[in-house]
Amino acid sequence: MEYGPSVEDSSAVRDWLAAKGEFGHFIGGKFTAPGAGFDTRDPATGDVLAQISQGSADDVAAAVRAARKAQRGWAKLSGSDRARYLYAIARHIQKRERFLSVLETLDNGKPIRESRDADIPLVARHFYHHAGWAELLDTQFPGHVPLGVCGQIIPWNFPLLMLAWKIAPALAAGNTVVLKPAEYTSLTALAFAEICQEVGLPAGVVNIVTGDGETGAALVSAKVDKIAFTGSTEVGRKIAETLAGTGRKLTLELGGKSPFIVMEDADLDAAVEGVVDSIWFNQGQVCCAGSRILVAENVADRFEGLLQARMEKLRLGPPLDKSTDIGAIVDPVQKDRIISICRAATDAGAELVGGNAAQGCFIAPGYLRRIQPANPGMQQEIFGPIATLSTFRTADEAIELANNTRYGLAGSVWSESATVATDLAARIRAGVIWINGANMFDAAAPFGGYRESGFGREGGRVGMLEYLAEPKVKAVREAEAK
Ligand code: NAD
Repeated sequence: MEYGPSVEDSSAVRDWLAAKGEFGHFIGGKFTAPGAGFDTRDPATGDVLAQISQGSADDVAAAVRAARKAQRGWAKLSGSDRARYLYAIARHIQKRERFLSVLETLDNGKPIRESRDADIPLVARHFYHHAGWAELLDTQFPGHVPLGVCGQIIPWNFPLLMLAWKIAPALAAGNTVVLKPAEYTSLTALAFAEICQEVGLPAGVVNIVTGDGETGAALVSAKVDKIAFTGSTEVGRKIAETLAGTGRKLTLELGGKSPFIVMEDADLDAAVEGVVDSIWFNQGQVCCAGSRILVAENVADRFEGLLQARMEKLRLGPPLDKSTDIGAIVDPVQKDRIISICRAATDAGAELVGGNAAQGCFIAPGYLRRIQPANPGMQQEIFGPIATLSTFRTADEAIELANNTRYGLAGSVWSESATVATDLAARIRAGVIWINGANMFDAAAPFGGYRESGFGREGGRVGMLEYLAEPKVKAVREAEAK
């Protein structure tokens, strides 16, 4: 695959990677010596970017001790003092926006336009927003106390953004953290550790231990006061079993299979653009992607014609090329997973339009048509750039199809009538509903699911409460601290 003339300059990142070569963990404000581990690769080329250490149970325990040691001092700072650190982190992220965008794109495979225009600006916004909450803590949450040390496990689809969603509210509330990034995408978390050093964040407030699921499992079993997890429903279920009866707080943000309903009075051009933002954004590796398109039967042919024409214009290409719309899938394992679900769907009678696998970690955008509700392609999270397309006759039928899922994370409704749209929105069983829009994220808006999409909310005021103990716990905690 040739790189065009508008390729983002990656030399600063490549110099940084060459200078580091291998990374240890970030514990107690310092990087540990690199240990045995694994390669992290650019999924677009297969090139090795760096070596990442595999965190052991001892590494996790050391990080938890460092976080515990730092927690009392961090919680004793006034909210505005903590806010100053969060503002400084946000500002540093803005200053290193280009560097972080390129690093994210190299490690994850997402198009540079997306990391530059969506991921990294949203990361900065999340820290600014939560600096505000740190300032407001005493007046908005009187009597609440932090939980203590929070273990946080994140996925690879929005690596630095998921880190921000976890770390910013935890720190604002006076907790300290041990975070484990996903094994495919540890690099921006390690660059974030450097930012913590640059802003002089007290040692031990943020600790980062890299590694795979075993490291994650060690963190779940460690002496932490809360686990916040984003990832697959299968792993989320295991974590819930491990923590059952321990009294430790848990939030789970898991998979989804979100409906995208196009009513007959919808602006079809806008709805097609909505599909692009919804399922073809980030190669469809988005937990709240509108992966099930449900369209009113009497506009279905017109909609599909527009959709197919738009899909064919999307450019699959090198992620660092600024004109690329669809970059690389994060890893060959995930690519194979996408292909096998699509095969199961076509074996069960669906027809795949587009969606061809290309050499390397690339899959062209596509959709499955003539698909029955029970088809695996309609029930399983594909987590790739492949939607399903089905039709309905009445609003009731649309809702029945929309709710025919074990998930309940998000949904999207397209109609020019506010009454129709809000009526339908209220009937979809999901945590987040967008009207005439999709995948719109804001630090102030709570995000989270129902049923097998998990529980707990991230973002805004409700998200802050997930990192605070009830006022009545305060007296007990104070007595314990004496
Ligand atoms: P995963 O759940 O295996 O991994 C997510 C995180 O959990 C990673 O950091 C991983 O190292 C860690 N982990 C794995 N096993 C663990 C364990 N036993 N205990 C503690 N932590 C553990 O997800 P994946 O394999 O990377 O992706 C598989 C599927 O998960 C995807 O195809 C998709 O369906 C779903 N997914 C959802 C989201 C989301 O945002 N909701 C994000 C990524 C993946």
